[in-house]
Amino acid sequence: MKDFQVDTSMCVHCGLCLPSCPTYQVTGSESESPRGRVVLLDAVREALSSGRTPDPTAWGALDHCLDCRACEAVCPAHVPVGHAVEELRGLVPGRPSLLLNAAALGSPSGVRRFRRWVRVATRPGVRRILRAGTSLPAPWGPMLSLAGGAPTSQSAPSQEACRESGEGLGVTVRFFWGCVMEGLYARTNRRSAELLRRLGYVVQMEDAPLCCGALARHQGDPEGARRWARSIIARFEESGAAFFVTNAAGCGAAFKEYGAWFREDPEWAERARAFAGRVRDLLELVDLKRLPVPRRTAPDPVTVHDACHLVHAQGIRDPVRAILQRVGIPVVEMVEADLCCGSAGIYNLSHPEMARALRDRKVGGIPPGVTRVVTSNPGCLLQIQSGLRERGLLVDAVHWVDVVYDALWSGKGEDRAALG
Ligand code: SF4
Ligand code: SF4
Repeated sequence: MKDFQVDTSMCVHCGLCLPSCPTYQVTGSESESPRGRVVLLDAVREALSSGRTPDPTAWGALDHCLDCRACEAVCPAHVPVGHAVEELRGLVPGRPSLLLNAAALGSPSGVRRFRRWVRVATRPGVRRILRAGTSLPAPWGPMLSLAGGAPTSQSAPSQEACRESGEGLGVTVRFFWGCVMEGLYARTNRRSAELLRRLGYVVQMEDAPLCCGALARHQGDPEGARRWARSIIARFEESGAAFFVTNAAGCGAAFKEYGAWFREDPEWAERARAFAGRVRDLLELVDLKRLPVPRRTAPDPVTVHDACHLVHAQGIRDPVRAILQRVGIPVVEMVEADLCCGSAGIYNLSHPEMARALRDRKVGGIPPGVTRVVTSNPGCLLQIQSGLRERGLLVDAVHWVDVVYDALWSGKGEDRAALG
């Protein structure tokens, strides 16, 4: 057992975690709960330690874990169930590899390829063709369903146009644009940088297409994930910036865990810990500042979906609501705001049935009268948008930055001047 770094032996089987677990909520099955997974983890680890192939049923129940961290946030003994399952991924023989992660995001050129693919896939004519294929088997059908829900209005500027830095006397921050955010929500990235600048920060932008490594780690490739991490840490160290900032909850959670990723690496452990201490979600920086007076007086109310890797992994829940209300946007709470939407990295491609059940439950929790679901992670945006579209609801899934930016500045011609 000593080969496994993540310790779950402190579980006292109290069951306090059960109501927070999305897969338990859907199935009602003990083996699909965090407590059940602790027991199954022991069995699977035992098999792997003695060179046997784990029981596929036991591994299947573990593999259904979304790594959403909801159980970890409520567990009185701090049992890291999601981390333990993540550690096993890649060690279990016979796991199917998923093309998206390996082929599309395994290198800087892979990230560029992914962005080009997204730009083609989100053209209206191509989108119509893709929608016709959504009944294909996984991962293709679910992938096409997600692509059909991707935004068309957020064209990605060229790499050259992305290079910019702020001026002023404020704190210097380095903004990470991310592979999926920049591929699908490039305008939100530009607005995020502009929001920081207008609040007095000096903003550096990454000058290369980088991935935080979370997708690789989620799919059982920790060394691939660490390759990305080393590159990001080294660039940050050279930058001289005070903080490393992201607007994507999944990336932020990964960055803040870099210390644990390099625990066994004497050369990188301290550098990774220092870097992790400098990471901030964009919400944390914006929440510290005074915001301008909003332009509109009676905007439509919105509801908030708490991304798992923001609320459970980083413990950030209130700032998005506080910021929205400070710019005059009424917030109406949805049912189970912090329950996973089923996106979870590429879980919606690898486990489409559970992902769909969670997505439909999420969409069903939207209160009447709201026209936008606000969140802070590109995977959640895509997942919820695909559910809204399939139900034919006149509701949009939007990043909180876009809601705040529209409330403060949209329509004044400032988009063109500021965002290129
Ligand atoms: S994981 Fe934590 S909350 Fe869940 S049963 Fe074990 S000790 Fe209790
Ligand atoms: S990480 Fe999420 S899905 Fe996995 S056991 Fe915990 S609550 Fe359930």
